[in-house]
Amino acid sequence: MKVPLVDLRSQYEELKEDLDAAVLSVLSSGNYASGENVRLLEEEIAASCNCRYGIACNSGTDALKIGLQAMGISEGDEVITTPFTFVATIEAIIQNGGKPVFVDITSDSYNIDVSQIERAISPRTKAILPIHLFGQIADMESIMEIAEAKNLLVLEDAAQSIGSTRNGKPNGNWGIAAALSFFPTKNLGAAGDAGMILTNDQDIADRSRNLRVHGMAKQQYLYDDIGHTSRMDEIQAAVLRVKFTKLAQWNEARNIHARIYDRALAETDITPPAIVSGTTYHTYHQYTVRCSRRDEFKAYLGEHGVASAIYYPIPLHLQPAYAYLGYREGDFPVSERACREVLSLPVQPHLTTEQVEYAADVARHFAVAKAGV
Ligand SMILES: *Cc1c(COP(=O)(O)O)cnc(C)c1O
Repeated sequence: MKVPLVDLRSQYEELKEDLDAAVLSVLSSGNYASGENVRLLEEEIAASCNCRYGIACNSGTDALKIGLQAMGISEGDEVITTPFTFVATIEAIIQNGGKPVFVDITSDSYNIDVSQIERAISPRTKAILPIHLFGQIADMESIMEIAEAKNLLVLEDAAQSIGSTRNGKPNGNWGIAAALSFFPTKNLGAAGDAGMILTNDQDIADRSRNLRVHGMAKQQYLYDDIGHTSRMDEIQAAVLRVKFTKLAQWNEARNIHARIYDRALAETDITPPAIVSGTTYHTYHQYTVRCSRRDEFKAYLGEHGVASAIYYPIPLHLQPAYAYLGYREGDFPVSERACREVLSLPVQPHLTTEQVEYAADVARHFAVAKAGV
């Protein structure tokens, strides 16, 4: 049996009629940028996250970049984040002239270790950029407490957490803004690149809206800011609106699949992902286990037709492009160890129960046979 990690064709097959109709209707409308679909998508997504404003843009990376710019991050500003994330998180900081300052993660949540944030704060620190990694929201209450005490802004990297909640609140309700990604493989994926800024702050919303179209304010061809070409396409918005009707159901399927692995891996040497205190809903963008024999485990799964992936194999502080930041091996031991031990297993919503049970059996067999548990 084959168990793929991602299967975007199945999403299309499930919604084929509606997706085809939505795309064709955009094509025949002659209206391809900043139209009705974008406006409605912004309303629908923002409302689902209990946020006042949604500003659709070209990608999750742009949502981070524009969000930070709207917050006023510029030359020389330090932004605290973790080295265990997708590279876009720090590109957004650096492309605004800022400097990422890393703080290690906790070994159970893979999110920022709040006990180490204060040590990283300097007179140049302007913001904290926590990531809600793999679909679990970071410890935002503690982060906001530090941010308020030290007068720092907070942007949530919510690229992997649409639909997630913490203490009953959806992402985007702690920081001054949050960035969503609709890259095709995310829990809600477009048919190409797309993203969105969420905020409850009207100034951030207005500035972000201007920045995505070259920094143009109310009057045409009058520029307040140095901006971007980062509109969301109408076709992408139309596709996302159709898929969004299924998101809750798809996230629920990921949870059902996660429980199958949880049961299979209990009391083995393969550690299932933790649901940390405060998490009310984990959306398992990735179901990421920890295994000291990770590479062997990955090979074993592969031999049995079960796909898996390593998010992330190399922490950002050890990437060649960011050597200039001056970090060294050993600086963030929890992140470095995670890079050696993590493996993400297939939980995508279109897998059948049989497929997930098979994958869980294969995983359990490896754990039991090799560890003798
Ligand atoms: C996907 C992702 C991004 C970037 O989103 P794109 O839409 O691919 O530009 C940023 N941060 C994290 C944590 C991501 O997973």
